[in-house]
Amino acid sequence: MAKVYFLDLRKKYKNNFMEMFEKLVDVSGGMKIVKKNTSSAVKVHFGEDGNLNFVSPLYVRKVVDLIKKSGGKPFLTDTTTLYSGRRFKADTHIELAKEHGFDFSPVVIADGFYGDEYEEINGAKIARLFTNIGTMFCVSHFKGHLVVGFGGALKNLAMGCSSKGGKLEMHSKSKPYVNMEKCTLCLKCFDYCAYKAISKKKSSVEINEKLCTGCGGCMSICPERAIKFKWDAVCSDVQKGIAKYAASFTKDKKIFYINFLINISPNCDCFHTNEPMIAPDIGILASFDPVSIEQASYDMVKEPLDKLYPEVDPTEQLVYAEKYNAGERNYEIEVV
Ligand code: SF4
Ligand code: SF4
Repeated sequence: MAKVYFLDLRKKYKNNFMEMFEKLVDVSGGMKIVKKNTSSAVKVHFGEDGNLNFVSPLYVRKVVDLIKKSGGKPFLTDTTTLYSGRRFKADTHIELAKEHGFDFSPVVIADGFYGDEYEEINGAKIARLFTNIGTMFCVSHFKGHLVVGFGGALKNLAMGCSSKGGKLEMHSKSKPYVNMEKCTLCLKCFDYCAYKAISKKKSSVEINEKLCTGCGGCMSICPERAIKFKWDAVCSDVQKGIAKYAASFTKDKKIFYINFLINISPNCDCFHTNEPMIAPDIGILASFDPVSIEQASYDMVKEPLDKLYPEVDPTEQLVYAEKYNAGERNYEIEVV
């Protein structure tokens, strides 16, 4: 049974939260994986332009400082996105990361300038940089996700550490459609789609499934929430893909996971907009097991998540991840 360490931010402490966070990392032994004078990747999501919910750079800076203190050489990293926007290419992605406060450490985009640099590991298209990195701190924001129910460490490993081709593979069946009863024909989705998959007709917009990559970007840009996925086929396949990629990625790597149950938003940090939170802040979890930390995180936010996306069974990604030997669902909580 894997251990998951928990810092409860609903409690009052004598020390401030940053000191308590340092204690969490210390008690859980996270810095044991740092090798002296060796690069340690700190995998983060820098937040889409307009998003405010990503993990605070102040916490990430603390992780970086602790790695340096342990003799390692940290750098921040993420990959390019499948959807259009400033994170689509490395140069604008790095620019946005700096604007969002991640300016205290080198930032490296792991799948190259255009997102096409990868190595195939156990059938997964892993961003090339990671093939030479043995140590990683996987810093994840735990929140809702409109396709797979929730997003945390597993999604950060799978979507977050794969090249564009890998993301495409995981999204391949997730083709959206437009609900014309809600659509106001504003054409934001038409201007936005990087793959020219949306066409405008006289009184409708249509998505060409052959051209659509399933990146989901149009769903986040639509102000009317008129674009939806066909739930039946999508959720299960994407979750299975996430589990497979996460398992392939973690093999032979030393990874320490930190999940932030703070700013628990209904959707992922790829959204350009802000929405009301679905739950109050809970705390921070840490573990060496990506499945245990996700199971524990889900258990803490289960009620609002299940209410938010009744069509989705988000436990599928946990079941598959365990089946593919990424970790175990059984966990034991140790409160810090
Ligand atoms: S962004 Fe939404 S409301 Fe605007 S045209 Fe596209 S589907 Fe319709
Ligand atoms: S139509 Fe398809 S490819 Fe275009 S933004 Fe939407 S999901 Fe992405």
